[in-house]
Amino acid sequence: MSAQQFELLTRLTVSLSKDQLTWVSGYLAGFSVRDHAQQQLPDETVPSVTQTSLTILFGSRTGNGEGLAKKAQLLAEEQGVNVVLKNMADYRPRDLQVEKNLLVIVSTHGDGVPPFSAAELHEFIYGKRAPKLDAVRFAVLALGDSSYFQFCKTGKDFDEQLEKLGGKRIVPWLACDLDFEQPAEDWLKKTINALGGEICTTLPADSQHPISSSAAINGETVKFSKKNPFQAPVFEKIALHGKGSERQTFHIELATDTKGLEYEPGDSAGVIPVNPDDLIKEVLETTALNSSDEVEVNGIKTTLYESLHRNLELSKITADVVKRYQEFAANRKLQKIIDIPDKFKNYLYVRDIVDLLKEYPVKITAENLVRILRPLQPRSYSISSSPKAFPGELHLTVGEVNYESNGRRKRGACSTFLSKVDIENGQVPIFIESNQNFRLPKDASTPIVMIGAGTGIAPYRAFVQHRELSENRGKSWLFFGNRNFETEFLYQTEWQNFLKSGALTKMDVAFSRDGSQKKYVQHRLVENSAELYKWLKEGAHFYICGDMNKMAGDVQSALVKIIEKEGAMNTESAQEYVNNLQKERRLQLDVY
Ligand code: NAP
Repeated sequence: MSAQQFELLTRLTVSLSKDQLTWVSGYLAGFSVRDHAQQQLPDETVPSVTQTSLTILFGSRTGNGEGLAKKAQLLAEEQGVNVVLKNMADYRPRDLQVEKNLLVIVSTHGDGVPPFSAAELHEFIYGKRAPKLDAVRFAVLALGDSSYFQFCKTGKDFDEQLEKLGGKRIVPWLACDLDFEQPAEDWLKKTINALGGEICTTLPADSQHPISSSAAINGETVKFSKKNPFQAPVFEKIALHGKGSERQTFHIELATDTKGLEYEPGDSAGVIPVNPDDLIKEVLETTALNSSDEVEVNGIKTTLYESLHRNLELSKITADVVKRYQEFAANRKLQKIIDIPDKFKNYLYVRDIVDLLKEYPVKITAENLVRILRPLQPRSYSISSSPKAFPGELHLTVGEVNYESNGRRKRGACSTFLSKVDIENGQVPIFIESNQNFRLPKDASTPIVMIGAGTGIAPYRAFVQHRELSENRGKSWLFFGNRNFETEFLYQTEWQNFLKSGALTKMDVAFSRDGSQKKYVQHRLVENSAELYKWLKEGAHFYICGDMNKMAGDVQSALVKIIEKEGAMNTESAQEYVNNLQKERRLQLDVY
């Protein structure tokens, strides 16, 4: 080493911390190894930093997983990593074994079920054909909702099973709740940094190349979001049920003529409600707290009233809230309920926070109450308009949640908020939730069969409006079910007009409470089995929208029966046929 080199090295090293010195020693050692390897390998096989590859797989029902996957891609590409980004639904499970670095971003649907796009891969890694993944490094980011018992179960499954198959975990998995944005972004940065560790193994975390600021991450057009909703003025609010109906569904038209609120038929809108005053009053009376008490929410000082109005969930209680309440006010009876999952589920199903406060009373401060409650979440509604038919507008179809249980009237937070919104001056805070898993066929001439019950009719209004304006449109068939013909035939006149104009080819209805025997949409499907099968053979796409718990499963069973009968197949083959329809995206579900 020359004197000049020595001086340069000394000037550099005196300014370094202990950790940085460790890193530099490893870095220099790396040079000698690389030089040695370079002497032995032909040029094209020299390992290079840019050869690091990462496959990002996302599987989620809403666009949240895809949004995070795109962020991860951006972060990784800034680090010189080659990224392959894929929806799990389009990924060949067998390709797992050739991955080097794998980032899985997956949500959990309802109580522990993988979203449809993740189902095949999830099944594969648990199956007999699952390959050894000794050479695969992986990390799992799980999205979920902690109000469900099996919070983030699908993500947990992936993390555990990839390890069982021999995969090496890059960083511990992260389970994200509804407020996922910040923790997920922090975790992604950490994970991508750790990925860099594969290239420079001795690189200490704090000396790594700083990853882009969130401004760069959010470099794409700023969209309206849960944290930054658009205050949409109200054009119209119409009660859709006829006189004498026990319940109500509202049609609401919003003015959305602004950038950042673009949507397609099949998308949903997230609506941010406020809690109704009568429920807040009950909470204050039950706790004997003052509405003006000072509290802190998300680091911001506010009054108890404001926090109960805007920030905290009151109209439904979830397992996490009850457990926090029990930690604060231990009660043996309540513990017995918490300990038995079925009992606990039933308890939560029909109660709100006032029920809990009344049944297990305890002296509580405003601060503690705020700490126990859960943040108020937006509610999702399938958009019932087509932007082609109503540019600058967005329509919602909102079933009012209003029932009596446990001796008290219960009202849904968001449906009540929307049902009371003022047409003159009211505004509705909204943002778009893209749903790539519920889309019209790309080719407008493809026949479609739409099956919906109750407010599950919403996206079909958007579909048919859209098709009415499409060139070369194919046949369409709507199956709609609700309680009564007289009072609950939602958008009856519009459907009649669509039938007249030819935008809708056929419509069959099932009004469950009109006759002595219940008739549901699936009964109408079975009655039309021969023709439905013909449509299926012609390449029709099928859609199911509405209740997830019973209706969606029953309709799918009906489809299996129809295929079994008309295609002369056994149940197993017919079931496989339906599964394949779903894989090919010819059967799509929008169910809650
Ligand atoms: P609903 O009253 O729950 O049901 C509508 C009709 O479906 C009724 O006639 C009902 O009959 C019948 N039904 C009951 N069980 C059924 C089954 N197993 N198979 C087929 N039909 C059955 O409707 P809703 O209150 O409007 O709620 C619809 C559901 O769709 C909710 O779960 C909602 O969350 C979901 N959803 C809403 C939207 C939206 O944008 N608004 C979008 C997607 C999904 P009976 O009551 O007489 O038994």
